[in-house]
Amino acid sequence: MPVEVNVRIKEVIQRNHNVKSFRLEINDWLDFKAGQFLMVTLKDDPALSRYLSISSSPTEKCYLEFTKKLTQSDFSASLNGLKPGDSVKIKYPMGQFVLDESAQKAAFLSGGIGITPIRSICKYVVDKNTGTDIVLVYSNRSIRDIVFKEDFSAMSSAYPLLRVAHVLCEAEKGFKCTVGQINAGVIKNEIPDYPERKFYLCGPPQMVEAMRNILTGQLGLNGEKVVTENFQGY
Ligand SMILES: Cc1cc2nc3c(=O)[nH]c(=O)nc-3n(C[C@H](O)[C@H](O)[C@H](O)COP(=O)(O)OP(=O)(O)OC[C@H]3O[C@@H](n4cnc5c(N)ncnc54)[C@H](O)[C@@H]3O)c2cc1C
Repeated sequence: MPVEVNVRIKEVIQRNHNVKSFRLEINDWLDFKAGQFLMVTLKDDPALSRYLSISSSPTEKCYLEFTKKLTQSDFSASLNGLKPGDSVKIKYPMGQFVLDESAQKAAFLSGGIGITPIRSICKYVVDKNTGTDIVLVYSNRSIRDIVFKEDFSAMSSAYPLLRVAHVLCEAEKGFKCTVGQINAGVIKNEIPDYPERKFYLCGPPQMVEAMRNILTGQLGLNGEKVVTENFQGY
């Protein structure tokens, strides 16, 4: 059952030009699964509540982290003003976007801020050395929009069964990526053994729907092999 608690901000980390992570001090640690989400409420105001994925892994016991793309909304403005020591209310854990540990091979397709629960799952797999073989295909407009870029580089160096393929709308000199968007050709090219993998899709609803249609339509995968998380609100 999810619980509601008031917690203090421990640290704020700027991830890229418009994305920040907020690390929370957790005194009574509650078990959660990598990939689950929480609800954050600011100033005790229900209008300032949002669902946000937990971007830290259960193996990172010193804090609980969420990561928000900052927009023009009142919620984003209030969040952006928070400093270490300030309090927020959270309700957690919730959600079913979790790794099926019985599947030896997984593939993640994500865009932009949709990477947050995937970062949690990958960090868990790396820290626990579960042996799960993972390919992540991560699409962004440009290199400056990639979230957790260094984090994923470090994880794939430490755990060779994690491979990250970047897809960008615009080419970046000296950076290995596919230019364009994730489509059936990119999936076949980056994940040649795709029929053997369980797929996890996360991002804005339109992107998730498009990816699911490619996998179950053009690539003929069974819908049961596709797990999704929709970031309603983008
Ligand atoms: C399970 C889950 C996990 C998420 N994880 C993250 C995350 O890790 N990082 C992150 O940045 N965002 C995440 N989101 C999206 C987040 O909850 C916000 O909706 C989004 O960040 C936009 O909020 P905003 O305040 O920036 O913009 P707003 O201006 O509030 O939102 C933009 C538009 O979306 C609409 N909207 C807002 N919330 C919802 C909603 N729940 N359902 C339908 N429409 C809505 C608003 O009415 C507005 O029209 C997640 C959403 C879900 C459901």
